[in-house]
Amino acid sequence: MSESHQDKQHKARQQKVKQQVDARIANATEEKGLLLVITGNGKGKSTSGFGTVTRAVGHGQQCGVAQFIKGTWENGERNVLEKLGVEFHVMATGFTWETQDKQADTEAAQALWQECKRMLSDASLDLVLFDELTYMVTFGYIELAEVIDALNHRPAHQSVIITGRGAHRQLVELADTVSEVRNVKHAFDAGIKARKGIDW
Ligand code: ATP
Ligand code: MG
Repeated sequence: MSESHQDKQHKARQQKVKQQVDARIANATEEKGLLLVITGNGKGKSTSGFGTVTRAVGHGQQCGVAQFIKGTWENGERNVLEKLGVEFHVMATGFTWETQDKQADTEAAQALWQECKRMLSDASLDLVLFDELTYMVTFGYIELAEVIDALNHRPAHQSVIITGRGAHRQLVELADTVSEVRNVKHAFDAGIKARKGIDW
């Protein structure tokens, strides 16, 4: 069967795309640990972060996780990843939305931030995830300058993922890859309860 005009057109288009992709691959020669920021109001930020940790673990890489805010919450990812050697740190007291105790929240955030700084100086860690860190900066519980300084001085091969809404402009600027998850719709808005295995 001879190639139709459409087939030929398709082939020519695909060849052009391939040339462009090949050129971009050839241009990407730098190798270093990355800073990823996953922000925005839609669902999928933390799950994306944990998905990437899972991917790294699957390649035998060493990973660490610090979770701000959700300290006392159940967490499905932890049940799996900790067994596979991922170190987990959470806020000891959870987060005191109810009491609005700024002093207690600052102390809890600061204690976890010390673990983050330690991980950022640990060259044995290939990837660290700081889940919901953005809020700590927004609320002033952790100094932005200190976060940026620790990120800048981490081991060159180490990648970092920061998740949370409203990522500070300077974190976005510093990051190599930034994704904003947009909320198109969410079950919660239709009165549907958060679901085990989907939401935590
Ligand atoms: P996930 O952990 O499911 O990836 P996320 O990290 O993007 O969500 P967060 O802002 O951390 O979202 O929200 C934590 C919880 O709130 C999750 O249970 C999530 O399903 C839920 N959630 C996320 N986006 C929305 C939204 N737009 N409206 C209501 N609930 C949401
Ligand atoms: Mg989240």
